[in-house]
Amino acid sequence: MRLIYTERQKQFREEIRDWLAAHVPKAPLPSFDTEEGFEAHRRWEATLFEGRWSAVTWPKEYGGRGCDLIEWLIFEEEYWRAGAPLRVNQNGVFLLAPTLMEYGSDEQKARFLPRMASGQDIWAQGWSEPGAGSDMAAIRSRAVRDGDHYVINGQKTWSTRAVWADWLFGMFRTDPASSRHHGLTFILLPLDLPGITIRPIKQLNGLPGFAEIFFDDVRVPVENRLGDEGAGWNVAMATAGFERGLMLRSPARFQQTARKLVDLYLRHRESADADPGIRDAVMKSWMDAEAYTLATYRTASRLGKGAKIGAEASTNKIFWSELDLLMHETAMRILGPYGELMPEAPDGGPFGHEHAAWLDGFLFAQAGPIYAGTNEIQRNIIAERMLGLPR
Ligand SMILES: Cc1cc2nc3c(=O)[nH]c(=O)nc-3n(C[C@H](O)[C@H](O)[C@H](O)COP(=O)(O)OP(=O)(O)OC[C@H]3O[C@@H](n4cnc5c(N)ncnc54)[C@H](O)[C@@H]3O)c2cc1C
Repeated sequence: MRLIYTERQKQFREEIRDWLAAHVPKAPLPSFDTEEGFEAHRRWEATLFEGRWSAVTWPKEYGGRGCDLIEWLIFEEEYWRAGAPLRVNQNGVFLLAPTLMEYGSDEQKARFLPRMASGQDIWAQGWSEPGAGSDMAAIRSRAVRDGDHYVINGQKTWSTRAVWADWLFGMFRTDPASSRHHGLTFILLPLDLPGITIRPIKQLNGLPGFAEIFFDDVRVPVENRLGDEGAGWNVAMATAGFERGLMLRSPARFQQTARKLVDLYLRHRESADADPGIRDAVMKSWMDAEAYTLATYRTASRLGKGAKIGAEASTNKIFWSELDLLMHETAMRILGPYGELMPEAPDGGPFGHEHAAWLDGFLFAQAGPIYAGTNEIQRNIIAERMLGLPR
């Protein structure tokens, strides 16, 4: 493959670069796992929307630009290089939206997509339950039909950003006699309905990055169902494909971390070279980030010709989550004892205050092999569907 950008793609890159240079906040926003930071990131989503940059792959009628996957990769490269804020509505824009486009009615698309693109509605994902994580078919939360409403009872957990989010897309058991992946339904609901209790859960960094959600006779109109009643499993599998596939974590994110790691190493080479393994790990990090980028370009061009991503999404997910761990562990080795300082520590010695961002990234990287389906589950998928091994 010879990767040469067209004139149109080069112009597109210039356009986004100029826009980001003029609009990216000069100082980093507070974490979106605080109330203040959540609202600041919501305002950033609105700014992106005004520039029509919040959902570049969506059709124009819903606020997008109709970009193909290569243009999306270019957008992401510029976005991460500019140090722009993390996307508080990633569950909506990158996971629910493609699912809505595939399974939603025209009314649902018109109702939900523009408000999602502008950050008016921030979405959380409600699949996991205390007894249903890897084994999602064990979902027990019920949605019982009562006229033109569903009445929901049960509990969800680990719902990212549900503490301040506006809406939830969840999976509920609508057929009480069903088991496993039958009888489940995909439902969209506002998180301020009567009967909903949200209990924040602290992440490793101490911030309430996710929540438990309790449902006590919560009434949701039937029109909020996505796809057919009882067909939720298929709808959810489409979402999971988007989650593990390209959209959740673009290669640009890891290229940016790799660049920062190389920079950290070069500035502290004298002390870092005391452990020759660090130099190797820095080089491997950079090469793996480049390899993942090239592999993604290849996948994107295949998908552009009509191919489906399939089980390859699982290999991607394992690769980026392990790479993210490697890069942050390597940074912690360079930082040495300063890496353990909490962000509020006044003095990071020779590292100034940069230890704070690396520690935060290191703690979050631990979650990579767990969310979006654990890496053990991805390995099962690869074994069965790609290698044809017995169950
Ligand atoms: C940062 C973060 C954000 C999250 N955000 C959300 C969210 O927004 N919405 C949501 O619904 N969920 C979310 N989750 C939950 C996530 O989807 C689950 O944690 C994940 O699916 C694993 O489920 P579990 O925690 O119940 O672990 P379990 O399923 O109990 O697994 C425990 C261990 O057993 C292993 N295991 C289980 N089954 C098998 C098997 N068949 N073969 C081999 N090994 C197996 C697992 O790999 C794991 O190591 C999030 C999780 C994290 C860490």
